[in-house]
Order: sequence, then C-alpha cells, then structure tokens
Amino acid sequence: METILSEKTEKATDGVSRTLEAIARDNPSKLKLFEKIYDRKAAITECIEGQCLDCMGFDTKGIKECGDHRCPLHRFRPYQDK
Ligand code: SF4
Repeated sequence: METILSEKTEKATDGVSRTLEAIARDNPSKLKLFEKIYDRKAAITECIEGQCLDCMGFDTKGIKECGDHRCPLHRFRPYQDK
C-alpha cells in the first residue's frame, strides 16, 4: 500500500502510525493537524481540536453542538459560534 505520510511520521510508533494512516485515508484535511500534535508541536487549542475530532468521529457539527457540559474541554471546544 502506498503511503502519503511524511518520513518523520513513519518513524512514529505503530499505534500512532496506524492512527495517522486512518486519518490520511478517511479525513485527509486533518492529517497535518494530527502530525503536528504527535510531533509535539501543536498549540493547546490544536490539541483540544484533535481531542474533540477524535471524540466526535471527525464530525465538526457534532463538536459544535456537543452537549456534554461535564467534559472539561466543553467550553474550549472548536467550531462554536463566537
Ligand atoms: S467538548 Fe465534547 S466533543 Fe470535545 S472532547 Fe468533550 S465531549 Fe468530546
């Protein structure tokens, strides 16, 4: 299988590599965000975006409408109307 992942990403752990391969296949527009997160170069807001995307299966509308007020990230979640 041909990969579109960067050389640096290929050096990541197997679990991270599998996750990035799935993102590259299913949500390619978010690949750079997750590469930055796993390279430890992401800002905290980008990390929260990554967590919310993972939590909601990459459904940005679901994140916007998230009703879990118990979640510590709720008020910081992305895609809210300002
Ligand atoms: S704020 Fe909502 S979407 Fe984001 S991690 Fe928490 S429960 Fe999931």
